[in-house]
Amino acid sequence: MEHGTKAESYRIKMVEPLRSTTRKERSQYIETAGYNPFLLSSQDVYVDLLTDSGTGAMSDGQWSALMQGDEAYAGSRSFARFEQTVQEIMGFDYVLPTHQGRGAENILFTIYLEQGKTVPNNTHFDTTKAHVLHKGGRALDLPNPDVLRTQEVSPFKGNMDLTRLRQVLEESPPGAIPLIMMTLTNNSVGGQPVSMANLRATRQLADEFGLPLVIDACRFAENAYFIKHREAGYEDRSIRHIVREMMSYAHACTMSGKKDALVNIGGFLATSDRSLYEKAQTWAVLFEGFPTYGGLAGRDLEAMAQGLQEVVKEEYLADRVGQVAYLARVLRQAGAPIVEPPGGHAVYIDAGRWLGHLRPDEFPGWSLSVALYVEGGVRSVEIGTVLAGRHPHTQHHDHPALELLRLAVPRRVYTHRHLEAVGHTVAKVGEQLAHLPGMRFTYEPPVLRHFTARFAPLGPWPG
Ligand SMILES: *Cc1c(COP(=O)(O)O)cnc(C)c1O
Repeated sequence: MEHGTKAESYRIKMVEPLRSTTRKERSQYIETAGYNPFLLSSQDVYVDLLTDSGTGAMSDGQWSALMQGDEAYAGSRSFARFEQTVQEIMGFDYVLPTHQGRGAENILFTIYLEQGKTVPNNTHFDTTKAHVLHKGGRALDLPNPDVLRTQEVSPFKGNMDLTRLRQVLEESPPGAIPLIMMTLTNNSVGGQPVSMANLRATRQLADEFGLPLVIDACRFAENAYFIKHREAGYEDRSIRHIVREMMSYAHACTMSGKKDALVNIGGFLATSDRSLYEKAQTWAVLFEGFPTYGGLAGRDLEAMAQGLQEVVKEEYLADRVGQVAYLARVLRQAGAPIVEPPGGHAVYIDAGRWLGHLRPDEFPGWSLSVALYVEGGVRSVEIGTVLAGRHPHTQHHDHPALELLRLAVPRRVYTHRHLEAVGHTVAKVGEQLAHLPGMRFTYEPPVLRHFTARFAPLGPWPG
């Protein structure tokens, strides 16, 4: 099941035409965009694998739920339905909707964080880290060390490094750590799952040191699917049962609806702790809106409630995780070295290894992303030196351990034939590999440089 032996469990009722472009046109578009795929117009992209965030297709059930949105300012019935759904699926008593995941993070860290405090996490997602830093805190990543062995297949590479977590907790003065976070799946290390055993042990450590454990739940359903298929003792458990157990270890969760609530915008903060909820409610009013709408329309809450019901369906998850595994297979066949095993939402090409003729400061992942666009109109994103930015003191590039290229799969959007087209593109790029030039900045913004930077190739582009 995990490898998608069955065809899709849905059929297509509405289509969005794609525009086809020539290689010559794409060379022109990317040059105009300063060789930055973020600056392309989406109509000039054929298969858009930039992100899985908010890019999914809603179901007919979600579209019809949308029509039932109750747009009352306070106490809307759409909120009641949304709240009941979160209570039923995740088991938390109190739910605050937010405009997206980072809205929930903002509320959480406003409550818990002060200057100089440290937050341990299996690995912070970018926005989570940015919020911790914004409050003057320190974001401490404690990933499973086997993450760096990219060719080694291990089932739960998203796990927290429990030895280091214990060490950090023991060495920190009282009050220095306000909470522990766990990101499911672990997005920044490739969408790798966390095992139930690791989650349970993290909760035990949190209890031992009297700290709350907060789950970043963005891809909770994908994580539950991996537990069911990879962790002994869970084969016969339903996804809903596994989700309830996962969430039972958390004092609260932050959630981006743009991932596993199958919507294009939305998020929430949930907890069973009454006093945390009351504090959160106060901030929610200030940052997001009245607690029963949180920056969203009633119809958005309807769509999110329906999406949460759909995302925990086994057939949906078999399609979803199976499609990502299929993309991994296509890329391996095309000759690209990928990070093994593929995660729940994306496949990563080890660009540093594949474009071995380029140094990290020649941005191999970036060069590969430009090549995939020029060759086949495929948009992907570098997760390497450009994304990492510069060290705040030395001002040198803050080279990460790996130079990766991420191909994220939007939910229920592309067919296997689109993914085969991606495979052909990657194979073609593979033939020109040794001739692909590195890149240099022509404009480098000081923060979050990857979004708006402009580049030039260090040599002529092949073909
Ligand atoms: C997307 C994401 C967030 C932030 O959610 P937004 O809806 O983009 O604000 C937080 N954590 C993880 C792991 C994510 O993938």
